[in-house]
Amino acid sequence: MAEDKFTAIIVGAGPAGSTAAYLLAEQGIDVLLIERGETPGCKNMFGGRMYSYALHRIIPEFWEEAPLERQISREVITMLDGEKSTSISCQDENWAKPPYHSFTLLRAEFDAWLAAKAEDAGAILACGIRVDDVIMEDNRIIGIRAGDDEILADVVIAADGANSIITEKAGLRSKLSPADLATGVKEVIELPAKTIEERFNLQPDTGAAHLYAGTCTQGMSGGGFLYTNKSSISLGLVIKAAELQKNQYMLVDLIEDFKNQPSIAPLISGGEVVEYSAHLVPEAGISMAPRLFSDGILVTGDAAGFCINLGYLVRGMDLAIASGEAAAMSVVEAVKKNDFSAASLGIYTDLLVKNGVWSVMEAYRRAPQMLDTERLYTSYPTLLNNLLADMFTIDGSPPINLIDKLRQEVKNSKTSFINLAGDAWKGGRSL
Ligand SMILES: Cc1cc2nc3c(=O)[nH]c(=O)nc-3n(C[C@H](O)[C@H](O)[C@H](O)COP(=O)(O)OP(=O)(O)OC[C@H]3O[C@@H](n4cnc5c(N)ncnc54)[C@H](O)[C@@H]3O)c2cc1C
Repeated sequence: MAEDKFTAIIVGAGPAGSTAAYLLAEQGIDVLLIERGETPGCKNMFGGRMYSYALHRIIPEFWEEAPLERQISREVITMLDGEKSTSISCQDENWAKPPYHSFTLLRAEFDAWLAAKAEDAGAILACGIRVDDVIMEDNRIIGIRAGDDEILADVVIAADGANSIITEKAGLRSKLSPADLATGVKEVIELPAKTIEERFNLQPDTGAAHLYAGTCTQGMSGGGFLYTNKSSISLGLVIKAAELQKNQYMLVDLIEDFKNQPSIAPLISGGEVVEYSAHLVPEAGISMAPRLFSDGILVTGDAAGFCINLGYLVRGMDLAIASGEAAAMSVVEAVKKNDFSAASLGIYTDLLVKNGVWSVMEAYRRAPQMLDTERLYTSYPTLLNNLLADMFTIDGSPPINLIDKLRQEVKNSKTSFINLAGDAWKGGRSL
């Protein structure tokens, strides 16, 4: 039986849900934030880095109080091909100055902190409760169901992540297919802070973000990541779920192979694995977005598909926070009008455009198809590594000029200049 009624119920205390709860509570709106984990973030995982701008807009200078690991001062992209690897490294001193560009963090601590901010602002946080369904009346969402409990609300915000049950039950989206998703697997490997700083050439507060393509995914669409925390390393893989299913690889084997790659092994040597986790990543971009609002409901963060994987970066935390912000502002407007209909909540899409989330999703609309190009994970890493390894290998053989070498490598890697030009054009338009 329904016992309570709130203005807003938010399902999921990840970054999207806690941001929305914080902003609503700050406006004096009664809000219930429901989380299935025993504590917010206890089961949540991600690669390891959050871009700062969105949270800085909501909690200025959040780095003074949030549990963060290191601010990223170096980006490295590496193409792996067995014994060979080629890296591009980029550093910008501006990233290390306030407002810092991005931070590594661990979700169990960070999500708990953000949810506590919402609680301090006045939201009610209920943990250990899994929401099973929405309550519908005359095609309008009027609350949620968790086991035998029913709780009513003027509006429900679905912030329950990639595999959102709320969005599905509310009829805003059909079941996701493996083609829309990637599977992420990650280990947290403990190492002394000083060892990390020496191995990655870092200062006590600075950190590095490494992304990998090539043999780490055994030719499947996806890539690897490595982020430095204070005294641990977050290391993992993100691989297209449909390809994992087709090839029947075990994640544990893939991550073991990745850890044994010659350019990874020395970086984690002597470390102790203290955490292993796996999670879905919504990867199909704007094409998998559900209906974002309806009578009595809004959808935010991963539940709305607001996550971008470009190969050289993964963004979801900032988009979750920014979409949580837009959802909260939409509810604030709806409260003023006392109108929670779709017509009133439709302001959400305007706010997503205004705060930049929608333009990010639009800009990278072609990225998922581009990243499906098999050659990115097979021929190209081999081609690039062979070309460069040849260039730097001096063994007394007669030298071959660079153009001839390129021709030879293109032929050896079973691709063509037409493919190369076409993929470069596709890549340039998509990223
Ligand atoms: C392997 C991997 C690497 C990634 N790397 C990065 C990265 O480096 N940088 C980045 O910005 N993003 C990254 N992302 C994406 C990022 O993690 C997500 O975009 C972000 O966490 C989305 O936030 P959210 O609040 O929408 O959802 P989530 O963080 O998934 O939070 C959803 C919350 O809802 C709760 N919940 C779910 N169902 C229910 C229910 N029925 N009832 C109650 N509670 C429920 C969950 O327990 C969870 O706390 C990565 C993701 C993965 C999987």
